[in-house]
Amino acid sequence: MKKVAIVGLGVMGRPMANNLIAKSYNVVAMDLSARALSQIPGAIAPSAEALEGAEAIITMLPEGKDVQSVYEKIVLPGAPAHSLLIDCSTIDIETTEDLAARAAERGLDMLDAPVSGGPEAAGQGTLSLMVGGSPEAYARAGTLLDDMGAKRSYFGPSGSGQAAKVCHNMIVGITALGVMEGFALADSLGLDLTQFFQLCSGAAAQSWALENRCPIPGVAPATPASNNYAPGFAASLMAKDLRLAKAAAKASGQSTPFGTQAADRFTEFSDAGGGHLDFSAIYTSLREQTERP
Ligand code: NAD
Repeated sequence: MKKVAIVGLGVMGRPMANNLIAKSYNVVAMDLSARALSQIPGAIAPSAEALEGAEAIITMLPEGKDVQSVYEKIVLPGAPAHSLLIDCSTIDIETTEDLAARAAERGLDMLDAPVSGGPEAAGQGTLSLMVGGSPEAYARAGTLLDDMGAKRSYFGPSGSGQAAKVCHNMIVGITALGVMEGFALADSLGLDLTQFFQLCSGAAAQSWALENRCPIPGVAPATPASNNYAPGFAASLMAKDLRLAKAAAKASGQSTPFGTQAADRFTEFSDAGGGHLDFSAIYTSLREQTERP
């Protein structure tokens, strides 16, 4: 039974840990929050000593500063020689490259492997993983990555998994705003929104955002909108990912005007108190902004 440590047992980390436990891994589950610890039997506060014997150390944390803190306090001091470090959080490329370089100084391989797919995919081991790091580390991680995800794509050196993830989420954020704005206009023009959803579903407007985040309660089955916009994928995380894309665009010199608009709109919505809601809840603020002739 392979010993694997997971740090970060939130919306995603908990089902990821449960999936590996169900697949007979010996999982050391760690988190700072008492609430998160109470939800997995045997879970403990983060500790460098508890990493002893771990073959892989997975982090699933909110932001770059959290991953940096966990690496400095427990992973870099405590990771056993030959263990593999896998960061599945969505964070900035610079922090990833810096931590991979510091891990290499200790003789450790680090992969960035951010994921697409929500908590259900995490629990079923059907995530999509976007991976950066050395080809050797990617080959070593093969079985574990296959136990976590249904699809994995290797993009190249350290940071390239994060690069793929921010570009991917920029497409999702822009597309989602298109869906929301289309429904706001359809509603203001008096269309039957169920009929409009069915039309879009079978026509060129079809997308993941439309099918899974239709913003009108009761129109598409099992959406956050039909559950008081409970996440799902929180608006604050969508805003964070879009800001990461904006920063990556700035660093590379590529202009991304629609991505920038999306980052600003989701950040505004999140700062105004909607951050804990699913990102599709941004529809409510768009629909309120009605211009009178
Ligand atoms: P979350 O906020 O639900 O969980 C984060 C967990 O990390 C919390 O339990 C928190 O207590 C813990 N934590 C924070 N700092 C810590 C520290 N220093 N030591 C130990 N534990 C610490 O977040 P989430 O939704 O699980 O997302 C995690 C990452 O995955 C984010 O980067 C997010 O962008 C990405 N992601 C999320 C989704 C989704 O659907 N929620 C999908 C794909 C990717």
